[in-house]
Amino acid sequence: MTDPYRNTCHVAVIGAGIGGLSAARTLAGHGLNIVLIDENPHLGGQFLRQPGRPDRRGTPGTGHDVRSRLDARSRLVDQILLDPMVPAGTSLAEAVSAPGSGVDIVHPAQVLGIFPDRRIWIMAGPEAGPAAGPGTRLMELQADILVFATGAREQYLPFKGWTLPGVMSLGAAQILMKTHRVLPGACTAIAGTSPLMPALAYDMLIHTGHVAVLADGHSLLWKLGQLPFFARHVSKLVQGARYAARLLQHRVPVLHGHHIQEARGQGRVSGVVFARTGPDSRFLPGTNRFWQVDSLAVGHGFVPNIELPVQAGCRVTYDPDLGGWAAAVNVDMETSVKGIYAVGETTGIGGAEQSRVQGQLAGMAILEQLGCIHPRQPRWDRVLKTRHHLYHRADECRSYGTLVNRVCRVPLAAYGRIPDDTVICRCENITMQTIKQAVQQGFTSWSSLKKATRCGMGRCQARICGPIIQKILQALTGTEPETIGPPVSRAPVKNLPVRLF
Ligand SMILES: Cc1cc2nc3c(=O)[nH]c(=O)nc-3n(C[C@H](O)[C@H](O)[C@H](O)COP(=O)(O)OP(=O)(O)OC[C@H]3O[C@@H](n4cnc5c(N)ncnc54)[C@H](O)[C@@H]3O)c2cc1C
Repeated sequence: MTDPYRNTCHVAVIGAGIGGLSAARTLAGHGLNIVLIDENPHLGGQFLRQPGRPDRRGTPGTGHDVRSRLDARSRLVDQILLDPMVPAGTSLAEAVSAPGSGVDIVHPAQVLGIFPDRRIWIMAGPEAGPAAGPGTRLMELQADILVFATGAREQYLPFKGWTLPGVMSLGAAQILMKTHRVLPGACTAIAGTSPLMPALAYDMLIHTGHVAVLADGHSLLWKLGQLPFFARHVSKLVQGARYAARLLQHRVPVLHGHHIQEARGQGRVSGVVFARTGPDSRFLPGTNRFWQVDSLAVGHGFVPNIELPVQAGCRVTYDPDLGGWAAAVNVDMETSVKGIYAVGETTGIGGAEQSRVQGQLAGMAILEQLGCIHPRQPRWDRVLKTRHHLYHRADECRSYGTLVNRVCRVPLAAYGRIPDDTVICRCENITMQTIKQAVQQGFTSWSSLKKATRCGMGRCQARICGPIIQKILQALTGTEPETIGPPVSRAPVKNLPVRLF
């Protein structure tokens, strides 16, 4: 390294979403040296997205700028029905960043890799990333205890035309609106199987956007059948009803049981075809419906970010109810490696409340491990009571997570039926046909397929195509995920300029 900046700390928390904030908040105030690292310039992760610098396209008058359409009454209703995790998350962020909290916040900074003895490589600076400016530097931090709170990312079912400009993930459309104050387009279709779809439609509608259509992969009957399972999660039902009311008010057409067959356009998306699928996931003839749009936001659920725990040697397990491969933890959030913890969506998709609860559990376990709290201290019974309550709440959150992952699930057969000319690995331009040929030649594990085709070896390092290829392999070979194995992870997990070494 040309700029070695070595440091040590008691606890390093990687990720400042709700999970990381909650762990750091619990650890604060006990005289420990805590470092909280996040690649975003704001705290709060995916849940507490905040406005960033105004984008040029977002300047008023271009037709793409985000303006509120809410009147005073609707704003009041919104305030009353606000997800309680928003104020809870905001106060965690405030507490952690308050002077004297003992939490050293390093952001924006990307963790590139984990090495033996809990050494962490970090690229820090205002422009951390492949186009790093002169202010960017590499740091090495050695921590006594590590907490992975790296969250999750979206996953997709590829379709013809999904690489066209104007086709984006649901999360990207959210970031455009919430952070850059720009609408994804003048006329947007929203599609997939994800709880983010109605949330995005709602945000677009209250910000003068136009939602041309919302196409949900699940049938209305199937969704109604899921409602009783949400009985324990009333606040989520209320949230869903609020989104549905807004869609009705704006007369947004909703297609139930429709998947994207194709995105069309010359140079950028100009239309999208939806169709129904049969029980074998084939598109049913005569059910196609075309919509003219200038943007398409799509998502099929989430996958935990496990690259760093994998590098640290932590055991990961595959469970569709967790969203796929996830870091395995005990009830106190410790991984299979002593002194390394994982919290939030790194351990399975489950929502912001799960991240908060798990962060607090990990924080308490670490405080005990470091001797900051112990059974001989006064009011130890209160500590035990709090923990007991958190264990119970963590179970409830898990049951919600199972429901979310069920709502997001796409039949495995759909991955086997992706048309041959569809690009699967976008970085290396590898098509479904190339993958099928390699599988026929016997390259049926992750690592052999990678060597045979270069899939997953591009700039994103399989962040996008990894979960897709896992499912394609399962669909084509009938092999269990455990046999295919989790994607291999090596440092650096993020792009960086060679000159920084
Ligand atoms: C795209 C997307 C949009 C979402 N939108 C919503 C929404 O609108 N409403 C809702 O209720 N829920 C939403 N969720 C779900 C929400 O993220 C969870 O409910 C919850 O907030 C997860 O908290 P977390 O702390 O576990 O993870 P996150 O909030 O994902 O936080 C993880 C943090 O780790 C950081 N990180 C990861 N890897 C590195 C690295 N190598 N170096 C440095 N930092 C790193 C990330 O930048 C991020 O800030 C969304 C999820 C995703 C993936």
